[in-house]
Amino acid sequence: MTTPADPYLLTPGPLTTAASTKAAMQRDWGSWDADFRAMTARLRAALLEIAGGTDLGYDCVPLQGSGSYCVEAMLGSFVPRDGHVLVLANGAYGKRIATTLRYLERRHTVHDTGDYLPPRAADVERLLAAHADITHVVVVHCETSSGILNPIGEIAEVVARHGRRLLIDSMSAFGAVPLDVRALPCEAFVSSANKCIEGVPGFGFVIAKKSALEAAKGNSHSLALDLHDQWDVMNRTGQWRFTPPTHAVAAFLEALRLYAEQGGQPGRLARYTRNRDVMVAGMQALGFEPLLTDAWRSPIIVTFFSPAHANFSFARFYELMKEQGFIIYPGKLTRVESFRIGCIGALDESVMRRVVQACGTALRTMGVPDGAPEHASLDAREALAA
Ligand SMILES: *Cc1c(COP(=O)(O)O)cnc(C)c1O
Repeated sequence: MTTPADPYLLTPGPLTTAASTKAAMQRDWGSWDADFRAMTARLRAALLEIAGGTDLGYDCVPLQGSGSYCVEAMLGSFVPRDGHVLVLANGAYGKRIATTLRYLERRHTVHDTGDYLPPRAADVERLLAAHADITHVVVVHCETSSGILNPIGEIAEVVARHGRRLLIDSMSAFGAVPLDVRALPCEAFVSSANKCIEGVPGFGFVIAKKSALEAAKGNSHSLALDLHDQWDVMNRTGQWRFTPPTHAVAAFLEALRLYAEQGGQPGRLARYTRNRDVMVAGMQALGFEPLLTDAWRSPIIVTFFSPAHANFSFARFYELMKEQGFIIYPGKLTRVESFRIGCIGALDESVMRRVVQACGTALRTMGVPDGAPEHASLDAREALAA
């Protein structure tokens, strides 16, 4: 799926893209030209279709920049200056949301469940009951720092029952994990080009209720990140307000074509799930242990405890994997040593088998007998399962 010289990126974006997605960038487009405006319109409609349909009162607003720019735009545009946000944090991306709100000077309360516990409906219920002035709840769909798949269904239900508004960071989940606004009503959610749709980096997109986009007028602290204005100008002119990432848009349309050809969301979920299952089984056979129990493990990225053996060094392991053509990801946990292997991108189970083989070779080269972690790490996992 890539040329042999390119390493596979086992990282949750940027990720390995298909050859035809890369090839789609070999042409220049004028941003004001009717052809490019039609491309933008197609992109918006295709994303709405993936979210459930084009006639559900939602609209899609693409925005230049990486995913965090879109998260910041969503928070700054939809949370009024006198709003109060409940942030459900269980990893680095939840913490980033809280940091963003601090920059934006929006009042917020953080419910932090640590590195590997999900936020649960009962806790959200209690917090919403205790704080009648909370206007919005923000949750991360797949917390990419651990790979945990948060239970957004039960959270959406409780938020709706309390009459508050839900904002979702579905960056690393949308397109593979179901997120259909007919089944899961929310005010808005955000994702980006270089995650499960398998495009290249350069922009993200917010899918939001039209009523929310209308009401957002005047809320934003930032011109460039004002979603109401981006939406309004795009609807009136067909253009992005400022220079669009034209090549990334062209690549994304090809990625969307492949996505549809490969069975849309169910097809993508099936391939990523298979990637994960083949990879986890192979790693466990080498003695490695995943951080999360099956119930919370996403098909997006898997965190493994680092092996306990004294000869193991992540830096060396990383280099040995790279020499064999695989770029892996360091861990992002605060308390235990770990590393991560992504399951997303233009790769399949045959690649995952080679990844596992390469891990075995790397262990042997380092003189590490197996991937078994310290007992203390496993104790932490037992506590999670309890
Ligand atoms: C990738 C990602 C982001 C955005 O990160 P950028 O580096 O700004 O693209 C945000 N949230 C989650 C959960 C992610 O996986």
